[in-house]
Amino acid sequence: MELKILITEEEIKKRIKTLAKDISEEFNGEKVTAICLLKGAFIFTADLVREMKTEVEIEFMRIKSYEGTEKGEDKLIYNVESDIEGKNVLIIDDILDTGGCLKTAVSVIKEKKPAKIKTCVLLEKERDKVIDADFVGFKIPDKFVVGYGLDMNELYRDLPYIAVVE
Ligand code: 5GP
Ligand code: MG
Ligand code: MG
Repeated sequence: MELKILITEEEIKKRIKTLAKDISEEFNGEKVTAICLLKGAFIFTADLVREMKTEVEIEFMRIKSYEGTEKGEDKLIYNVESDIEGKNVLIIDDILDTGGCLKTAVSVIKEKKPAKIKTCVLLEKERDKVIDADFVGFKIPDKFVVGYGLDMNELYRDLPYIAVVE
């Protein structure tokens, strides 16, 4: 197995600044509840919210889909705890693959009646998916990637860059 860098630390940093600006404008500078989809989005969320120009509240949610590199069924493991009714919500995920995970997250969050829901992913694979994200950091080829929060069997989340597993 070999790790080949696809997106460098510098490229990620630069892109997050422009993404954060666009997202802050989308919410007209109003307070946003950022919902981080665990575990993969934890590093992206930490960096993104620190570049946003609005006030933020942070919530977490966990939907599990992958076992190793195999895609399984989407399961809601942990739901947002606070009341988000009437709030501006930004759902943040690491990567959009089939879209199943983000679609599940959006439908669970919709039930809580927020005022506005927007979605943001760092990466989007070039393939067919069941939902689109409102904000996308980078479009990437349909390959398994790790780093910057994304794992393979719980390893490599700590890498500061995105790499393809070959
Ligand atoms: P989806 O439901 O869109 O098919 O998959 C979304 C979730 O699967 C992501 O949030 C991520 O946790 C995981 N995933 C999808 N593709 C990859 C990948 O290439 N690498 C890693 N490490 N996880 C992935
Ligand atoms: Mg995930
Ligand atoms: Mg994973």
